Amino acid sequence: MSGAGAADAFERVADGALRVPLRTQTLPPFTHTNAYVLAADGVGIVIDPGAGDPDALAALRAALAAVGVAAPKGVLLTHTHPDHVGGVDAARSLWPDLQVWAPAGELGRCDGAWGAIGVRHGRRLTLGGAVLTLVGTPGHALDHVAVWWAAQRLLVAGDLVAGAGSIWVGLPDGDVGAYLSSLERAAALDPAVVAPAHGPVRRDGAAVLHVARRHRLAREASLLQALQDGPARIGALRARLYPDLDESAHDLAERTVLAHLAKLMRERRVMHVGSDRDGPYALA
Ligand SMILES: [Zn+2]
Repeated sequence: MSGAGAADAFERVADGALRVPLRTQTLPPFTHTNAYVLAADGVGIVIDPGAGDPDALAALRAALAAVGVAAPKGVLLTHTHPDHVGGVDAARSLWPDLQVWAPAGELGRCDGAWGAIGVRHGRRLTLGGAVLTLVGTPGHALDHVAVWWAAQRLLVAGDLVAGAGSIWVGLPDGDVGAYLSSLERAAALDPAVVAPAHGPVRRDGAAVLHVARRHRLAREASLLQALQDGPARIGALRARLYPDLDESAHDLAERTVLAHLAKLMRERRVMHVGSDRDGPYALA
């Protein structure tokens, strides 16, 4: 990808599958959200159009043209965080017949004007003769779907994983237990290519999914280790798990720790012994 202009501002991921990185306001260290164009037999969809500025639309149009699609039949949202839906209004203006699909559990967060249809695990979408299957993968967001193109063993992963680094899983939307299950569900598909919404496309099979799961379990182990020293409040736990963190990132980090604590409390391994969200928390 040279990025020199709209015509080559995309990367070929697989047959009829293109990654189109769009500049968005997203969580650091990322600066872009990858939209994907999937197409077969002249029928195409756009996944996660996170931006709708003229450059973004030009890049999407160029990618669609490259796979022989003049107007996509729909937009699929893996979830409805702003950096994934920022281009939906612009896309609907450009292509008035566009269908919008969003995870059923996030329909309440969609702009009603989109007329979005709720989709769940197992739902199939066809592109000409090609079949895509949606994979329920909650954890990062209230609800989340990934897209499985079985014939190409391609998983368009949304925010299930990042191509490099890790995906934020924190309260109020995040659910660490659901996230771990979603990683296992996706790994069981045995993808050859994992195409994330942030960072590069991964061509090392399910490795990125396994690494993400181990990373999450290691953080949980660190949290339990910290609680071995006695009850602790959320700020102290954050400082133990994320030393040297810039103060501007404290809130995000604490909401990650809270999501881990919520899972451990559900499993009755940790208890809340304080009177507010900040704890203290203790081993059960
Ligand atoms: Zn997200």
